[in-house]
Amino acid sequence: MRVLITGAAGFLGSHISDRMLKEGHEVVGMDNFITGKPENLAHLAGNEKFQFIRHDVSDYIFVPGKVDAIMHFASPASPNPKSPYGYPNLPIQTMKAGALGTHNTLGVALAQGARYMLASTSEIYGDPLEHPQTESYWGHVDPIGERSVYDEAKRFAEALTMAYHRFHKVNTCIVRIFNTYGPRMHIDDGRVVPNFISQALSGEPLTIYGDGMQTRSFCYVDDLIDGIYKLLTSGEHDPTNIGNPVETSIKEFAETINRLTGNEAGVTYLSRQRGSGDPQMRQPNIARAQEKLGWEPKVALEEGLRRTIEYFKERIL
Ligand code: NAD
Ligand code: UDP
Repeated sequence: MRVLITGAAGFLGSHISDRMLKEGHEVVGMDNFITGKPENLAHLAGNEKFQFIRHDVSDYIFVPGKVDAIMHFASPASPNPKSPYGYPNLPIQTMKAGALGTHNTLGVALAQGARYMLASTSEIYGDPLEHPQTESYWGHVDPIGERSVYDEAKRFAEALTMAYHRFHKVNTCIVRIFNTYGPRMHIDDGRVVPNFISQALSGEPLTIYGDGMQTRSFCYVDDLIDGIYKLLTSGEHDPTNIGNPVETSIKEFAETINRLTGNEAGVTYLSRQRGSGDPQMRQPNIARAQEKLGWEPKVALEEGLRRTIEYFKERIL
């Protein structure tokens, strides 16, 4: 296949590019570097199966030649307003990447008769009232809250993807990604994994927002990419959760990172922004992925964190 990957210079997009090349496919990477880094793709320079186009997906997209699959991953992804890469600081760009970027990439899929994958998110479930979250849950989302620029753009993107599937018969699929971590996350991204690891490696207390009793379920990037590859190459059209169902509180998570890094500075509690819509709990139900794709995660949290800590060590110490 010749695959167009938007957001290729980002954390997930760069790992997907690697996996597609490893499977023998050709990759056209597209990115405007708003939150991604050329460094994430530097190792692919000179690879004749990899081509890069610097472009904003909110503008009309033209890719010369045949495209067999499109993976739309371009979007800011960090909810942290303290980070310059957080979508609260890139609100219009985030809505445009989810809305116009999805429209433009679906247009390419229609014109090319290509398989299409939308990178959606557990955020479409909002602050969930159903736990764990199954794909049939409609969500509990504030349409005007601080996270709405991301959540509603992704919900619109899902609706548009299904419209192209139902009306134009485009061969689409939707992956609902739950919190994923690993090498190539941006150190200043503001999400909890880079924040905690960089604080721990600098000997600082880890900043817990609120009482730390909110939960997340963290998936190591290699597991996620494996699920994504299986979904892309399946005949599925319905949204599919991909994530690790092992749930941990943020407080417990901070303690694990301090233990693995030997950080003795402990933690500090900061206020959780009121009205930020920070979900209280999040855990995927992955029965669908298990049944339809034969997929489940394999890398345990501590093992994945050790690998991620090594990556950050090389950049911080
Ligand atoms: P990231 O910020 O590392 O990567 C996103 C990439 O998209 C960046 O390289 C950025 O420059 C690029 N981009 C953004 N807007 C663009 C535009 N208009 N035109 C071209 N390129 C643009 O984030 P990530 O964690 O790799 O997330 C990738 C995708 O996966 C996003 O769509 C995100 O919503 C989704 N997702 C990620 C997670 C996670 O835990 N990492 C969870 C749920 C969903
Ligand atoms: N969080 C935290 N300290 C930080 C960064 C994040 O306590 O320095 C919390 C945040 O409030 C949220 C959880 O960790 O409850 C996960 O945050 P992240 O930004 O990684 O993404 P989210 O899962 O909220 O989309």
